[in-house]
Amino acid sequence: MIVFKNALSYVALVFLTTWLFLWLRKILNRSITYITKRHQHFKNEYALVVAQNDALKQKDADLKSALGKIIALYENAKQIFKYLEEERVFTEFKDHLYKYIEIRDCQFVKGEIDISKFKEYIVLPLEINKTVMGYLVADGIRDVDNETFQILSQQFLLAIKRAILYQKVNELAITDGLTQVLSRRYWSERFSEETERSKKLGHTLSCLMIDIDHFKEYNDQYGHLVGDIILKEASKTVKENVREIDIMGRYGGEEFCVILTETEKEDASFVANRILQAVQQRKIAAYDETFKITISIGIAMFPEHAQECSLLIDKADKALYEAKRSGRNRVCVYHGE
Ligand code: GH3
Ligand code: MG
Ligand code: MG
Repeated sequence: MIVFKNALSYVALVFLTTWLFLWLRKILNRSITYITKRHQHFKNEYALVVAQNDALKQKDADLKSALGKIIALYENAKQIFKYLEEERVFTEFKDHLYKYIEIRDCQFVKGEIDISKFKEYIVLPLEINKTVMGYLVADGIRDVDNETFQILSQQFLLAIKRAILYQKVNELAITDGLTQVLSRRYWSERFSEETERSKKLGHTLSCLMIDIDHFKEYNDQYGHLVGDIILKEASKTVKENVREIDIMGRYGGEEFCVILTETEKEDASFVANRILQAVQQRKIAAYDETFKITISIGIAMFPEHAQECSLLIDKADKALYEAKRSGRNRVCVYHGE
């Protein structure tokens, strides 16, 4: 009886243990499945976040690159529209272009071009009033830079068109827009007339070529707007120191030419020195700065040094060169080659 009881307890124990084992295994399996699923879920979530992060990084890089391009375009326009001299517009444009895109060659050709020379090039015509005035030619541009090049070159074509038209207006004008003295073209006409008159009447006349000393440095250091104010004030000072009947014109950028009618060499020299002193003493206020500048003057005489306008200018220019060479801030009278 006792043996039977023990056997029964043993079976019950085995059964209970087996059941407990199976139940625990089931619970464990369930937990493992659950944990595996959760793990996979988190793995997927993580992969998604990484992918989203990468996409955001890419977007950020794209935005930065697009912003860089926009800034480049804006800077280019700002820079090239500052200038009204064709050469300067092209130099600024080219500097900018080479900074932002890879390019083998870029030229601005005025007038007709030999197309066979530029077979591989992108050729963009510059049209003004339905007439082709020149071409922008470029070679070695990568596909990725093509759009940027197209935009930059359109800005350039507009800026160069503006410079050419400005020059044309200036050529046609009687007075120079900035300094209000005679434009070069009109001054040349007046000079011719005066030379003819002097020939007929047997008068002398003096041709003064005036150039501001180291003017480029003012432009470079303080900017073109300050340069323009200096230019205006310098021309005003010269004008105040000659007579109404003298003929003053803006010959070039910062060069002025004055014809002193019926004036002998000694008097011309006296007037030139008076102008020199007046300019040197003038305090020029431009924005927050005050400047003092100097000029150099070359003088040539009609009929002593030449009888033709262009030759007279040439001789005055040579005398001016001599004034520059010998130290600036001085007057030199032409004295032969
Ligand atoms: P130098 O004493 O030998 O004459 O030196 P410089 O620096 O005056 O000579 P240069 O002829 O090299 O410089 C002339 C400068 O004048 C260069 C040009 O950019 C500037 N310029 C020409 N026209 C204008 C203008 O209308 N406005 C301004 N701000 N600058 C001008
Ligand atoms: Mg100068
Ligand atoms: Mg000069």
